[in-house]
Amino acid sequence: LQMSDLNKEHRICVCVRKRPLNEKELLVKDLDIVTIPNKDLVMVHEPKQRVDLSRHLENQTYRFDYAFDDITTNEMVYRFTARPLVETIFERGKATCFAYGQTGSGKTHTMGGDLSGNSQDCSNGIYVFAAQDIFLLLKGPKYRDLDLQVYVTFFEIYIGKVFDLLNHKARLRVLQDQNHLVQVVGLQEQEVKCTEDVLKIITLGNSCRASGQTSANAHSSRSHAIFQIILRRGREMHGKFSLIDLAGNERGADAISAHRWTWQEGIEINKSVLALKECIRALGRKKAHTPFRDSTLTQVLKDSFIGENSRTCMIATISPGMASCENTLNTLRYANRVKEL
Ligand code: ADP
Ligand code: MG
Repeated sequence: LQMSDLNKEHRICVCVRKRPLNEKELLVKDLDIVTIPNKDLVMVHEPKQRVDLSRHLENQTYRFDYAFDDITTNEMVYRFTARPLVETIFERGKATCFAYGQTGSGKTHTMGGDLSGNSQDCSNGIYVFAAQDIFLLLKGPKYRDLDLQVYVTFFEIYIGKVFDLLNHKARLRVLQDQNHLVQVVGLQEQEVKCTEDVLKIITLGNSCRASGQTSANAHSSRSHAIFQIILRRGREMHGKFSLIDLAGNERGADAISAHRWTWQEGIEINKSVLALKECIRALGRKKAHTPFRDSTLTQVLKDSFIGENSRTCMIATISPGMASCENTLNTLRYANRVKEL
């Protein structure tokens, strides 16, 4: 990968990231069926059985803006996905970056940093990398005269309901005013002066997200987490960067998620990812009907989709194991449809 590869004109950038086989998969000798033969290609070797019961692999190839292999670092992924969107918010625009994929495929690792184990290191995730660059630009020659202040919000959407991760999971209402502007009423917006402030807030939000759950994975893998960095000049909003760790996209009773999805969870997440796809594809275009209202997620992101100067990127995260094959293919097909036509 070269820095000159960065295409700044793109409104929509869709990438895929493969994680390495984990200890559990290695232990049961799961096979790695995903290869990244090129910087924009991903190949899935799907196991198939012929009528005569002989086995073979069927290769399926997908092309994206970038395909990141299992040794690519978070920083590299950031540099080619969210980094090119940072300046948008200084130019009065809206930027949005999504992580999409099955539970355990690396969404939170990519966005929030490595939260596994005791280290709880959120300093190497896209949330913090983005904040770092925003502070650099803020103090740099090009934008320092704009006199902007930086605020962050951190909230969660679970079965269509909004919970504030910076305020003890307070349940918040989403309202649309006469001008069709959507507001999350009472959402905490905290001012931040430096990267350290942002780190503290993310740590706080993460612990709030994990609190009060019987199973660490049950609730958080079925909710969308939204971290926003907002530039303001006084009360006026100048630009906004939304960074989103989407709910797991696997459905129903899954071998990987230990808990069955409730009917309500399934319906709601289906609805929101379908609406999301349509909203991303309509980005910056005049379209007769864009289904913002179909889900709370697309409703609260509405202003980011309709802006003149809006850009988005999606990072589809995939597990390499044969046991995840079906979910991996589903993720790739979805990401493929999100791409710009
Ligand atoms: P998700 O949020 O999609 O459910 P996580 O981000 O929690 O998945 O990842 C599941 C596990 O895999 C975590 O322990 C995480 O540290 C590990 N992991 C994910 N992606 C990578 C990667 N690219 N490299 C190394 N470990 C990873
Ligand atoms: Mg997660």
